[in-house]
Amino acid sequence: MRIYIRFSEDLDFFLKKEQQGRRFALDMDRKASVKDIIESQGVPHTEVGRMELEKQTRDFAFIPGRTGALDVSGIKPPFDVLKPGFLRPRPLARIRFVADVNVMKLGKLMLLLGFDTACSSSFSDPEIADISEREKRIVLTRDTGLLKRKKIEFGRRIRSNLPYEQLEETLVFFGLSGKIRFFTRCSHCNKSLEPRDKADVMALLEPKTQKYFSRFFQCPECKKVFWKGSHYAKIVRKLGTMEHPVFQEWQRNPDQNFSRIEDL
Ligand SMILES: [Zn+2]
Repeated sequence: MRIYIRFSEDLDFFLKKEQQGRRFALDMDRKASVKDIIESQGVPHTEVGRMELEKQTRDFAFIPGRTGALDVSGIKPPFDVLKPGFLRPRPLARIRFVADVNVMKLGKLMLLLGFDTACSSSFSDPEIADISEREKRIVLTRDTGLLKRKKIEFGRRIRSNLPYEQLEETLVFFGLSGKIRFFTRCSHCNKSLEPRDKADVMALLEPKTQKYFSRFFQCPECKKVFWKGSHYAKIVRKLGTMEHPVFQEWQRNPDQNFSRIEDL
């Protein structure tokens, strides 16, 4: 039995040169699910948006019984994880992430932008898969093999190795640019931040911070205090320079964005 497989070009990242942009034959010496077939060629199931065997839409568990043509397409961004799809009929109830150790800086940036992100450099691969399944979290990783685990239904193999490019990639892929909420989450423990009066946190602040800032947020868990300091300004500036059209709002009208954040 043979499967004549072709991947769409948005999956080229995972393929060898000779597999890109063409149909190629796979000799099957045993029965295997479509998931196993595509993953044997390097593409994790989490990156796939649609699969057709002999023009019929199939899910990951389907086991081809005879020779045929298999067409595999990537997920078209923005990927709305809150809506049911053929391959993922049970959507997520909320947008939540778990970040692998190889994208820890991305995880911290996602937290600063207010996205619920479980981050720890001590998570092992099996732990990340368990957390993803148990807490219904999207896995962010640069480890392609991790995303082939069955327990992981939603995930993204981060392409870039630069944290701000990774952030742009994540925001664009999952369509999150309108969901950014600064200072709503602790970048250390992922707990929701609470607004604090200056007087209540005064003792925890450096003199310069006491002088120049007036709005503060505190983590109820680790007690760390957040304010719109230089780190915040750097992120806003970086968001404003991102090239993708979804960030043009930031580029056109940064003041409006500042005031929107002020309203938090
Ligand atoms: Zn905290």
